Amino acid sequence: MTLRNLFLTRSLVAIVLLALFVVTGCQNLPRPGTFAPRRGDEIVVAGQFVHTGTPVVLWLDPGGYDAYRVERRFSPYDESSWETSKVVVKDLSSPNRYGLRKSVLNSNEVERVRGGGWDLPLLQEKVDQFVMHFDVTGTSRQCFKVLHDHRCLSIHFMLDLDGTIYQTLDLKERAWHATTSNSRSIGIEIANVGAYGSPDAAPLKEWYQADGGSAPRIVVPARLGETGIRTPDFVGRPSRPEPVQGAVQGRTLYQYDLTPQQYEALIKLTAAVCKVFPKVKCDFPRDASGNLVPGKLSDDVLSEFQGVLGHYHIQSNKVDPGPAFQWEKVINGARGLMMPSEATVLKKPAERMMETRPQSP
Ligand SMILES: [Zn+2]
Repeated sequence: MTLRNLFLTRSLVAIVLLALFVVTGCQNLPRPGTFAPRRGDEIVVAGQFVHTGTPVVLWLDPGGYDAYRVERRFSPYDESSWETSKVVVKDLSSPNRYGLRKSVLNSNEVERVRGGGWDLPLLQEKVDQFVMHFDVTGTSRQCFKVLHDHRCLSIHFMLDLDGTIYQTLDLKERAWHATTSNSRSIGIEIANVGAYGSPDAAPLKEWYQADGGSAPRIVVPARLGETGIRTPDFVGRPSRPEPVQGAVQGRTLYQYDLTPQQYEALIKLTAAVCKVFPKVKCDFPRDASGNLVPGKLSDDVLSEFQGVLGHYHIQSNKVDPGPAFQWEKVINGARGLMMPSEATVLKKPAERMMETRPQSP
């Protein structure tokens, strides 16, 4: 190759590269002011949107619940500031109801993320538990009111009676919901009035009323005011018609099951969490026979456990998510969604192409 040819070739390559850069650059970067689409099923994980396939209301959205705010959400506005709140609510000891996952970080990592700058791989390395709670308050609106305005607590997700999921904080934050597991876990409060020592307990009688339907109708007491339930005219019924009897922490308890809408949403959310966080194994605490452990795990077992668990597996003074909670249904459902679909894995590309070709008459 002559020097002249070499020069021409190099020039040509440079021109082609420049043209490619201009063309692809223009194509890849949206025009300023373009809206990024959202489907309304996204959760936020270290600043990234992840789809769940079920409706999610973020703290960013209209009607969302924002655990980053320091003022009380439901008090009269003029009395909601932190300065007033810390005086009138004795349990509010901190303007923030969340913190840093400090006990699972080394000092370098603390400096890296203390300003909020988590990256997804680091979060995936640290989070290994997904904790189920029932809220006892009965609706997500009441739940946020109690946690944020009265208790100085927080939770990543709330699951309302109609299956709407609320996310109140990025999953990078350490929410205050499960004592020793806070730094390593994600938590969800499921709207359910709770478990009691008798099937005739007053809260069960008040919230579940026979109306001739297949199961009692869930009636949010009028004294609570606005329910906050987003599905218009929603009629909620437990998945099973009678209070479910079972033992938790050795106590016999009665509880109405979750609504079918709650199970459907929870299964999808659990699949999303287990898929995004490989250390959250899609399983619950089992004994040697493979059955659910219905009470607190020993400290050693708990420290080793990576997966989906109840608040009662962490603390002996807790009984949520209660005896009615269907662990197999949630875990098997989530596993089913996590498996790659048969059509995309088992069949070779050529076979898939054959199937999508128009059939000859
Ligand atoms: Zn709990």
